[in-house]
Amino acid sequence: MPRAAVSAGARLVVRSPATGEAIGVVPIMGAPEVRALVERARAAQPAWAALGPEARARALLRFRDRLAARAEAVAELSSRETGKLVFEALTLDVLVTCDLARWYARRAPHVLRRRRVPSGWIATKRAYVLREPYGVVGVIGPWNLPVLNTMRSVLAALAAGNAVVLKPSEASPLSALLMAELAREAGIPEDVFLVATGDGTTGEALVLAGVDKLSFTGSIETGRKVVRLAAERLVPTTLELGGKDAMIVLAGADLERAAQTAVAGAFWNAGQICVSVERVFVEAAVYDAFVQRVVELASTLEIGASAEADVGALTLASQIPHLERQIRDALDRGARLLLGGRRLPGPGRFFPPTILVDVDPSMEIMREESFGPVLPIMKVADAEEAIRLANDTRFGLGSSIWGERSRVEALVPRIRAGMTCVNDALANGMVAALPFGGIGESGYGTTYGDDGLREMSRVRSVLVDRAGVRHEILYYPLRRFGRDRVLALVRLLHGPGLRARIGALRRLLARRL
Ligand code: NDP
Repeated sequence: MPRAAVSAGARLVVRSPATGEAIGVVPIMGAPEVRALVERARAAQPAWAALGPEARARALLRFRDRLAARAEAVAELSSRETGKLVFEALTLDVLVTCDLARWYARRAPHVLRRRRVPSGWIATKRAYVLREPYGVVGVIGPWNLPVLNTMRSVLAALAAGNAVVLKPSEASPLSALLMAELAREAGIPEDVFLVATGDGTTGEALVLAGVDKLSFTGSIETGRKVVRLAAERLVPTTLELGGKDAMIVLAGADLERAAQTAVAGAFWNAGQICVSVERVFVEAAVYDAFVQRVVELASTLEIGASAEADVGALTLASQIPHLERQIRDALDRGARLLLGGRRLPGPGRFFPPTILVDVDPSMEIMREESFGPVLPIMKVADAEEAIRLANDTRFGLGSSIWGERSRVEALVPRIRAGMTCVNDALANGMVAALPFGGIGESGYGTTYGDDGLREMSRVRSVLVDRAGVRHEILYYPLRRFGRDRVLALVRLLHGPGLRARIGALRRLLARRL
C-alpha cells in the first residue's frame, strides 16, 4: 500500500494523518544495517535466555509498569502517528498491551517449564520436553495498532528468551522506538530488543538477515511475499493477516446490544482493526429493526481529532480512494447508501461512518477487506443462509454470532474462522488469555495466550537412560533378543484381549535377556 510517510533519501518523514504536520524523522535502514542489528541481537540473546523465565518475567512486569506510567505519552504518540483517537490508543495500545505483558510474565515460567512425559514401555528411560527460545525473532508489524500489534509478538518472544528485531510500519516507527525506550527503562538489555526503522525494503532485509523465527502482521499480499522469502531459508513464520469478519444476527438476539456492537465493531479505530466487523448478515425477522437502530447510533458519531470525537482519521491516504472505489462498485450494483459514503474535506484524512444495505456477496465490499469505517448489512432468510454466506470468503480471522445463547453456541463450530464471539464482537482481542489468530488466507499461528508463548519457543525432546542395562533391544547381535521376543512384546503391549497378553508375557519371560 502507498504510505502515510514519505521517503526523503535515506530517511522517513512521519506525518500526522489528522493534520498533515511532520512529527518525526527516522532512518530507512538498508540490508547491512538490519544485518548488523540481527548480529547484535544474536550476541545478546544467550545471556537473556540464561536469565531464566522468572527473571525475564520480572523484566516484562517492569516494562508493564513503565507502559502504565507513560500511558498518556504512549497513547498520544500512537494517536499522532496513526490518526486514531487517544481514547482508542489508551484502550487498545496501552491497556491491552499492559494486560498481555502481565499475562506473558505470569504464564511464561509455567508454560515454558520442563515437562515430564511418560517413557512408555521403555521403563528404563526418563523423558522430558524443554521449550527453548528460537534465538533472534524478527517481528514485522502494521500501523493500525502500532503498540499492541507489534508488542503482542515482541513481549511473547522476549518472555520465551529470544532477542527481537522489530520492523515497524513506516507509518508508525515512533511508537516502536518509544517501546524500545520503555524496555530499556525496564532493564531489558538494549540489544535484546532492537528496532529497524524503514520501509518495505527494510522488512524484506529483516526476513533475509538470518533471523530464526518471523512473526508477520499485515496484509495478505505482503504476507505472501514474506513467507516466500522465509520458505527459501526454512524460517518458521507466524502470519497474522487481514480479515473480512462476519457478524450474524439472528432472531432472539438482544438487538440493542447487537446494534451497539456492530457500530463499535465497524467504526472503532475508524474501521482499521483486523477483526473489525466488515459484513453483517441479519435474519429477516429482525432486519428492519436492527438496521434502523444501527443507523440511529452511527448518525450520532462525532468525527474528528478532538477529545469529544468518536471516530478519528484514516492512517493512510490510500485508504480513501480504496473505500470510495468499494462503495462506488456496491452502489453501481444496486446497494443503497444509508449513511456516509464520501470523504470529508481536508486537511485530515477523515472518512465518515458509512452504512450500506441491499448488498450482495458478489460485491467487492463483501469480498475484500475494507479496513475503514464501512458497514455493509445484508438480509438473510435464516441461520443456514447466514452461515453459508459468512463462510463464503477466503479470509478466516474473526466472526460473531448473535441470538439466543444456547442456540448460537451450537452454531460456533460451523463458522470458518480462527476466532468467534457469541453475543459480542472485537472483545476477544482484549482478553490476553485467548489465542489470537486466523485460518484460511487470514494466516496461521498465534499471538496472545499460552499458545502465543509456545509460538515463540521451540520444542526439544530429551531422553535420559536411568538403568544402564547391558542389553538394549537395539543392540547387536539382533538375534540375542530375537524375533520371537519382539513379537511377544508387540502382543503383550498391543495384543487383543487379556489371554493373548498373558500368553505373550509367558513367552517373553521364558528366556532371560
Ligand atoms: P502491509 O502488509 O502493507 O505491511 C505490514 C508490514 O510489512 C509493514 O511493516 C510493512 O512495512 C512491511 N512490509 C512491506 N513490504 C514488505 C516486504 N516486501 N517484506 C517484508 N516486509 C514488508 O500491511 P499494513 O501495514 O497496511 O497493515 C494492514 C493489514 O494488516 C490489514 O490487512 C490488516 O487486516 C492486517 N492486520 C492483521 C492483524 C491480525 O492480527 N491478523 C492485525 C492488524 C492488522 P512498511 O509499512 O514500511 O511498508
